[in-house]
Amino acid sequence: MIDLRSDTVTKPTKDMLIFMQKCEVGDDVYKEDPTVNDLEDYVADLFGMDEALYFPTGSMANQAAIKLHTQPGQQLVCDKYAHVYHYEGGGVSFNSGVSCKLVDGKRGKITADLVKAAINPPDFYHSPLTSLVCLENTTNKGGGACYDLKTMQDIKAVCKSENLGLHLDGARLFNALVEQNYTPKDLGKIFDTISICLSKGLGAPMGTVLVGKKELMKNAMRVRKVLGGGMRQIGYMAGCGYYALQYHVDRLKEDNDRAKAIGKHLESLDYIKSVEPVETNIVIFYLIDAIEEMDFMDYLTDNNIRISQMGEGKWRIVTHLDYTKDMHEFTLDTLSNFQY
Ligand SMILES: *Cc1c(COP(=O)(O)O)cnc(C)c1O
Repeated sequence: MIDLRSDTVTKPTKDMLIFMQKCEVGDDVYKEDPTVNDLEDYVADLFGMDEALYFPTGSMANQAAIKLHTQPGQQLVCDKYAHVYHYEGGGVSFNSGVSCKLVDGKRGKITADLVKAAINPPDFYHSPLTSLVCLENTTNKGGGACYDLKTMQDIKAVCKSENLGLHLDGARLFNALVEQNYTPKDLGKIFDTISICLSKGLGAPMGTVLVGKKELMKNAMRVRKVLGGGMRQIGYMAGCGYYALQYHVDRLKEDNDRAKAIGKHLESLDYIKSVEPVETNIVIFYLIDAIEEMDFMDYLTDNNIRISQMGEGKWRIVTHLDYTKDMHEFTLDTLSNFQY
């Protein structure tokens, strides 16, 4: 089976499992798991930020960040496609009592001008107080688009002058970092908090690290506990994440390159209406109207290929660690041979 539905389907590599077995563990709720502590120190250093905390999931890390930045009744600003708005079960309101002001960005990305226009005047007490801006890099529903450094810096300038927090949902941040000319430390200077997912393209079985400024992170342990995310001998999993950060970052370029090749290939096929620009490891495309969507899906299934339907005619392919060169060639051929 060639599973291209998401980069979350990867399984730990043999070497990752060997590394995992050798990890020292302890009770992380007492902060006594050395492997978790090492991972957190490593990520904090990598981004040049004060503190980091390991979470079971990316959603929980984002939700905790939102809680750390806001009070009930306040409002955050994000793109209309944002994961924190769409795919975290309404947690923004459930966990933090906060609403979202949705901004009409492009491919999930917003700009400083859009942020400025979305801020409610702080002395106008009829409207919710804007207190946080959330960006996503790369964008998920936006099709893997990356921010450039200048746009993020410009948004930071607005946040600074308007006294707003700035959080980055960096679930696939390393897919952007291998394409763009900025470093984790550049981002550490811009954002107050950043979440990075270890279980997407990086290939760990679970885990997200939230990294941030001390004054915000001092409550992070409490919030994680309240959300049910305090874990015990979790160093075995954190070790996989640490391993992934050592050995699986540079290879993300391979995933991005294969996704770009798939995008280019799809553009050449006459049953494809359009393909969105491919910047990282996500390909979004549309079929021409003459095709029954089920026929295309059945054809792929018969050839042991799985991809996602995103609604509104959108199809999605995501490349990852377990998608090999052979699978790639087979997939390109299979796409070429579809008859309708
Ligand atoms: C996957 C993802 C997350 C986290 O999802 P979990 O499944 O909770 O780990 C957060 N943000 C974005 C943009 C994502 O793609």
